[in-house]
Amino acid sequence: MISACVFCRIVARQTEADIEYEDDLVLAFKDLYPKAPVHLLIIPKRHVESIARLEPGDEAVMGRCVHVARFLAERAGYGERGYRLTCNTGPEGGQIVYHLHFHLTAGRRG
Ligand code: AMP
Ligand code: ZN
Repeated sequence: MISACVFCRIVARQTEADIEYEDDLVLAFKDLYPKAPVHLLIIPKRHVESIARLEPGDEAVMGRCVHVARFLAERAGYGERGYRLTCNTGPEGGQIVYHLHFHLTAGRRG
């Protein structure tokens, strides 16, 4: 089955991506159009559309995403300098891909 969702296809290795991290719950890969020197996307492997569609029981995967963001930011050398974690949600929140994802950006001001 080929998923209609591009991030599900990345999880299933049906679409190429530069994968930086994987565990049982979470996948992280480089954003295709980076807007900062470090620009990674951190996603739950299970398809969840957005924060607005979270269900009871999703606390663990959301917490894991944040811990993975910290790990990847520190691994890239931005632990002390700082970084940004954003999660665009819904049409007016700037969300384009409807598979929940955190943007981890670092190395650029503003
Ligand atoms: P958002 O506006 O938060 O939904 O952002 C979606 C992000 O996904 C954008 O920054 C895109 O550059 C990125 N993106 C879309 N398709 C891919 C892909 N196939 N691989 C990596 N990043 C992607
Ligand atoms: Zn998906």
